[in-house]
Amino acid sequence: MDDAHDGAVVRVRGAHRLPAPSSALRGRVVVAAVAAGAFAAAAAGQTLQAVGSSDSDGVTPLANSQDATAAFGVGGDAPTGAPELLPVSRSTDASAEVQKLTDSEQVTQARIEREAEAKRKAEEEAKRPKTVVPAQGRFSSGFGARWGGSHYGIDIANSIGTPIVAAADGTVIEAGPASGFGLWVRVQLSDGTIHVYGHMNSYSVSVGQQVKAGEKIAEIGNRGQSTGPHLHFEVWQSGKKVDPRAWLANRGAYL
Ligand SMILES: [Zn+2]
Repeated sequence: MDDAHDGAVVRVRGAHRLPAPSSALRGRVVVAAVAAGAFAAAAAGQTLQAVGSSDSDGVTPLANSQDATAAFGVGGDAPTGAPELLPVSRSTDASAEVQKLTDSEQVTQARIEREAEAKRKAEEEAKRPKTVVPAQGRFSSGFGARWGGSHYGIDIANSIGTPIVAAADGTVIEAGPASGFGLWVRVQLSDGTIHVYGHMNSYSVSVGQQVKAGEKIAEIGNRGQSTGPHLHFEVWQSGKKVDPRAWLANRGAYL
């Protein structure tokens, strides 16, 4: 179940893959890159000119361009009239401009990705069932008269450890031992309705926790006054216990 769900998520992500950046933006980056190259070439030209002009200043000519690079690189040994490094810094500006464009492209892509993710989550939330059957298993006992008394819930029988999920969104208002139930979890819905889950072997929620329909909250057990592993489920409305099966069916969850 979980695996299938994960698979669906992966497919949806794939379907929302982002388009390539616009050709206009790519064009701007290319132009800036060419400009950066031009600046670099201009800087190199000026450097060579400076090396050539050093002859007339009476400075010993440098043997080759490698020496020239060494001389200018060290700085202190550079002959008088050595070119300023301004052109180089201009080429750095152009590189920075390219970087800015790349950054803004990345920012735009990140924003598009965030918006697509938010849209996907909203769609998922809208499609999500708001009411579900709280456990898989055999419907073993209904609501009403039973054994000369009243059964105020429904029973779903299955083996110990079978997941029990929240039947609807709500807030956990109790989780722990309870007379007759062995352990119970009570969840209050936003309209005040209270769901009671009983006889569980274990539970994995705590008071105050928000749960969503379908979220695992416990595992089926055989604690308390129970004649075999099952979930006992009740629905309380305004202090009155109502038929949980009808309550579920009225909201599209059938068992
Ligand atoms: Zn029961």
